[in-house]
Amino acid sequence: QPLDGLIASLAVDIPDFPVPGVVFRDLTPVFADGPAFRRMVEGLAGPQTADPRAAAVAHTDEGGPRDPGFDVVVGVEARGFLLAAAVALHAGVGVVPVRKAGKLPRERVSADYALEYGTATVEMHTDSLWRGQRVLLVDDVLATGGTLGAAIALIEELGAVVTAVSVVIELAELGGRQQIAPHAVHALWTT
Ligand code: 5GP
Repeated sequence: QPLDGLIASLAVDIPDFPVPGVVFRDLTPVFADGPAFRRMVEGLAGPQTADPRAAAVAHTDEGGPRDPGFDVVVGVEARGFLLAAAVALHAGVGVVPVRKAGKLPRERVSADYALEYGTATVEMHTDSLWRGQRVLLVDDVLATGGTLGAAIALIEELGAVVTAVSVVIELAELGGRQQIAPHAVHALWTT
């Protein structure tokens, strides 16, 4: 079964959540399905990690390290964390969080943004990325692009480079792809 069809068959549409007029796509049943979760993680990590041995050799010298095309995975609180950690493990790299305001204890950078419903602030530790570090940015849903746009602003403020952006679902009518251009978005399911 194609991955987009599998995700579509397991995701559940919730009308009027969290506010009237918004149809929320609940991905928790996709996360809970073992084979679907594995395929999602592999899809988000990208083609350069397609070899199942990639993760195993990425952090050893046996056979030479395999470059997944990024040095670290950045995940957005909170559903993005579930994906980013698994993607990082699969690719053999580390994981760095983008958190909601007030959660990170040390020196941090902040970005405000407009949500599909409401406004929010996200933060990163100032020393969580190094200059020139190649970042794969991961979240569950691309809606208006406000969240990923703010995350990209933080990553770039720290001098790192967003080499790929991966999401499970792109809600195309909300224009998120245009919002975060020129960064390309890899979506497992565009709807
Ligand atoms: P954006 O900032 O692109 O408008 O919204 C994306 C953020 O809101 C993501 O972090 C995502 O988790 C959440 N979000 C917005 N709409 C939905 C939805 O329909 N389903 C889920 N699961 N998350 C959503």
